[in-house]
Amino acid sequence: MALLQLTKNGLYCEQADVYIDPWRKVDRALITHGHADHSRWGHKAYLCTHSAKPVIRHRLGAKMKIQSIEFGQKMNMNGVSFSFHPAGHIVGSAQIRVEYKGEVWVASGDYKTEYDGISEAFELVKCNTYITESTFGLPVYKWQPQKEVFEDIHNWWRQNQRDGKVTILTAYSLGKAQRIIANLDPEVGPIFTHGAVEDINEIIREQGFYLPPTTRVNKTQKKGDFKNGIVITPASGLGTAWVKKFEPKSVGAASGWMAVRGARRRRSVDRGFVLSDHVDWESLNAVIEGTGAEQVLVTHGYSDIYSKYLREKGLKSQVLETQFEGEQQEEEEVEEIIGENEKKEKE
Ligand SMILES: [Zn+2]
Ligand SMILES: [Zn+2]
Repeated sequence: MALLQLTKNGLYCEQADVYIDPWRKVDRALITHGHADHSRWGHKAYLCTHSAKPVIRHRLGAKMKIQSIEFGQKMNMNGVSFSFHPAGHIVGSAQIRVEYKGEVWVASGDYKTEYDGISEAFELVKCNTYITESTFGLPVYKWQPQKEVFEDIHNWWRQNQRDGKVTILTAYSLGKAQRIIANLDPEVGPIFTHGAVEDINEIIREQGFYLPPTTRVNKTQKKGDFKNGIVITPASGLGTAWVKKFEPKSVGAASGWMAVRGARRRRSVDRGFVLSDHVDWESLNAVIEGTGAEQVLVTHGYSDIYSKYLREKGLKSQVLETQFEGEQQEEEEVEEIIGENEKKEKE
């Protein structure tokens, strides 16, 4: 029997009777990170890393039983050894290593290898079986170094200042927004935030992570108060009356999907910045080679194509059908939508 297998509730370790990022309510869940498609509401007990816990607590509410563990610390459940290793995706995000009788599996959750300036740096973990996402598992996805992306963002911001426009940059409120803020130069101008972003900023700062100063957008501020500023907001903020006081404005989006033609138009933004918290094609392949895995199970995104590619390279590989297969084209938005639905469920 496989050490980890897919059940109707999600990825399951029968020997230890525990799930990893389950999508239905279970008794014991190991959680890779706080995004809504991985960390769902309603399990009896949660285990995540210490640094992932505050955001997960904020999202799931005070009643949920959430325990946490240090990166790298080993924990035994019925003979199975579990440990969490940095995934570099967002603050606290982990790959989960599972070892039983000398066999090692790693469930990676979401991950990226480039250090983003705030998330704990990705750690390559040797294993026999690697479970990987393939959100951007096609050669067309090739990321620029983040330094260059931020030069582009700063240049655009300065240009907007010369044009007398307020700069608005949309980003997912958990993870991407903090990564952007961490890399913005506050010398260029003031940084403003949507409440959903600032709520997370406060949690992350309280944990001891550094973010440059930001100002929450509130009802008392007037049009002129945003002069020379940049506003960081989830895309959902654009659809509300909230944006009116930023006129005249220039709107940008930061996402891996901005690498695809048409994505910018669909989102009706003026500028697209290709910035992803997932690995690109080259990094994906480098990680898989680096793990030394002889078997790779693929979820999310281009899993059919990518799994076939790995088989042609001589690896054992198959697709793990996750519940949201098919919707993954808009992974970052999916996370946001699920989060909002869960909020409703709780209320
Ligand atoms: Zn994620
Ligand atoms: Zn995800």
